[in-house]
Amino acid sequence: MIPATSFSGKQVALFGLGGSGTATARALAEGRAEVVAWDDNPESVSRAAAEGIPTRDLRTIDWSGVSSLVLSPGVPLTHPKPHWTVELARGAGVEVIGDIELFARERLVTAPSAPFIAITGTNGKSTTTALTAHILQSAGRDTQMGGNIGRAVMTLDPPRPGRHYVVECSSYQIDLAPSINPTAGILLNLTPDHLDRHGTMQHYASIKERLVAGSDTAIIGVDDVYCAQIADRLERAGKDVVRISKRLPLTDGYFADGTDLMEAVDGRYSRIAFLEGIGSLRGQHNAQNALAAVAACLKVGLELGEIQSGLESFPGLAHRMEQVGRKGHVLFVNDSKATNADAAAPALSSFSRIYWIAGGLPKEGGIEPLRGLFSRIAKAYLIGEAAPAFSATLGETVPYEISGTLQAAIEHAARDAEADDQGEVVVLLSPACASFDQFKNFEVRGEFFRQAARAIDGVHPIGEQR
Ligand code: ADP
Repeated sequence: MIPATSFSGKQVALFGLGGSGTATARALAEGRAEVVAWDDNPESVSRAAAEGIPTRDLRTIDWSGVSSLVLSPGVPLTHPKPHWTVELARGAGVEVIGDIELFARERLVTAPSAPFIAITGTNGKSTTTALTAHILQSAGRDTQMGGNIGRAVMTLDPPRPGRHYVVECSSYQIDLAPSINPTAGILLNLTPDHLDRHGTMQHYASIKERLVAGSDTAIIGVDDVYCAQIADRLERAGKDVVRISKRLPLTDGYFADGTDLMEAVDGRYSRIAFLEGIGSLRGQHNAQNALAAVAACLKVGLELGEIQSGLESFPGLAHRMEQVGRKGHVLFVNDSKATNADAAAPALSSFSRIYWIAGGLPKEGGIEPLRGLFSRIAKAYLIGEAAPAFSATLGETVPYEISGTLQAAIEHAARDAEADDQGEVVVLLSPACASFDQFKNFEVRGEFFRQAARAIDGVHPIGEQR
């Protein structure tokens, strides 16, 4: 745990007593802050109180003595409307921050030289975070990984010189971290997502921009127009900007040429790493993730040889194009993490004949952005609330059925794929939707797919990626 010593003696109100909120309350108490915590869910309050966290209804406290309101990232700061605690804090002129801000301040006072790599973007955050941490760890660096992936940031080991932090940041977390100051900040890409929580694309992009704007070095994927503009703007402001591209040869920066990762200096190119034969980093999207990780590792002083061997030993993450089983010519792939159309595109691009399971709770735009990939779909199996809308988009172009449940979709897709005599085919769960209409989260949905696929007669499991 990281004691939040920079809040010593201060009165801090904390709202949101889920996993990260509870951990943050402990870190504040350990740092000798006076914490009062609350949650709209009475059970969470009772549980926290039983664990010794001081709880009080924040409607009843005197806000004039409070230095900060620490909010869980799940609690609305701005959209659809600010949470009532935010209104109370703002009314009293109290800052509203989150756990990443606590971490940033603590690092600054205890070990400002401890390398801090922060990662954001619409898609690829977890892969890039896990990959960067893996490369550093396999090169023997003292490495802590957390944030929006795995452990809450304040549960990591305390900063000290030479200890590396690799922290995944959601836009909610950045919104609550006004002084985030990474050694290397990575912004992978920007496409419309979470607009229910951020209002407009401009607002969403401006939040993400803050992470790179606060960095010593800003590593930015310039393959979309929002990020390209951010890179230009930061460079004009005098920031150290490193551009990466998964498809364009750049004059300066790092780019992918097929599976080769290239460095460009003044228009001169050299190969610095390669992804050929690395199963966990298949696809152009993973070239973007790998380029970002490589750029960050170079920034903190790793050698190219160390980086290449880290890339090669990366095990990958579950639910991201995870191969779960095979039966003859049929491969079963779990891409449950693809909760929007953009996230589903990489998997659809990676296979040529697909029995596609899609649906759930639809996001804005549906599957229209995937139209260019429809020719790869042998048949679609639609589930959940999105089924009627998705069937309308598929129309006459792609054969489909409305399977309703994931179980039915798997059984029918497996049956049809087995009967297919056109060579290698894939049964792919890449839903382009959130899971909440039928499952607790994307992990539970992916586990269900993995088990159901492996339960089919004759399916052999393929090594699990974790
Ligand atoms: P995040 O943490 O941002 O949600 P993940 O690394 O968990 O991202 O990947 C989620 C899904 O997004 C993957 O299954 C893949 O389909 C897609 N994806 C991963 N990296 C990228 C990328 N760089 N660009 C676009 N899509 C990506």
